[in-house]
Amino acid sequence: MTPSTQPPAAFRPGYQFASDNTAGMSPAAWAAIERANADSVASYGDDPWTTRACDLIRELFEYPADIFFVFNGTAANSLALAAMCQSYHAILCHDLAHIETDECGAPEFFSNGTKLLLLSGPHGKLTPEGIAHAVERRRDIHYPKPRVVSITQATELSTVYSIADLARISEACNRHNLRLHMDGARFANAVAALGVQPKQITWQVGVDVLCLGGTKNGVGIGEAVVFFRKELAEEFAYRCKQAGQLASKMRYLTAPWVGLLEGGAWLTNAQLANAAAARLEKGFKTIPAIEVLGTRQANAVFVKMPTALAAGLRGRGWCFYDFIGSGGCRFMCSWATTDADIDAVLSDAREIALTVSSAPGSPG
Ligand SMILES: *Cc1c(COP(=O)(O)O)cnc(C)c1O
Repeated sequence: MTPSTQPPAAFRPGYQFASDNTAGMSPAAWAAIERANADSVASYGDDPWTTRACDLIRELFEYPADIFFVFNGTAANSLALAAMCQSYHAILCHDLAHIETDECGAPEFFSNGTKLLLLSGPHGKLTPEGIAHAVERRRDIHYPKPRVVSITQATELSTVYSIADLARISEACNRHNLRLHMDGARFANAVAALGVQPKQITWQVGVDVLCLGGTKNGVGIGEAVVFFRKELAEEFAYRCKQAGQLASKMRYLTAPWVGLLEGGAWLTNAQLANAAAARLEKGFKTIPAIEVLGTRQANAVFVKMPTALAAGLRGRGWCFYDFIGSGGCRFMCSWATTDADIDAVLSDAREIALTVSSAPGSPG
């Protein structure tokens, strides 16, 4: 099925495994935007939609958090980290962390030079031992002082930190006087994968600030910065404004959250995305030329395949990334990925694999 007809393949949603942000807005979010468009309301967040979105997030976490909405994840992470650090501090993160690999130095920029210290760890996760080692190896005045641990939940490798993992990391943070930041661009996928309550993997295990992803979960634009520690939120509104992150027509950022949260789509969307990845992974495992990599728990599948097979799939219009960290190809599923999408890519892969005789990862 060569995508020869209009619109071009790149715009056909079924062909998008590049990212979960290639999906449109979730219908619940879209409907809420329409409702928010009906009246004039106060600007800069002093509107009923924003109040309601904050209340719903507080209900979700069962915690009286301070909440701010910004346009994207880079801003959320960078400003949250800046609020936790002085310029002479260091932020410990995984070497695959989005704040290191995909934010163009924004965390360092907005914190006026706070250094990211990169740690490795299996499955894209930090370990308490790694954190302790990073703190203990240097304690002199010539080295930036570790202040924050930043973890990604779900991780860049589609794994998740369990409650036990988080408790151990939190304990290491307490022992070394470190604050704990969570990049939750795919937080809902982690909740869905673990089958836990949001509080169990945040404030109950010592997370100080969560950057709660909206975009990949089904809103059109925006992430929420959720402070579980009040003093860290002090003057945060000024940071947002100065960074160009205060929306004047705030309701258009916040109404979609109301839509997602009120009907529970935040969770069902994540469940759909995770289930799509599970189905895709299962299918890939039946194709001998393809080797599934890692230990997927969330909505991305990593595979190694002959380069000719990857090229063949791309030739038929399928979009996916080569993901350096895993040494393979990343197929990212979203709430909008359908069984038909998955069956079609698998069928193409099977067909192309017959013409490609080489072992996984070989140049054939
Ligand atoms: C998508 C993503 C973000 C947000 O990226 P923006 O493009 O800045 O919105 C943050 N962290 C992770 C792990 C992501 O995958």
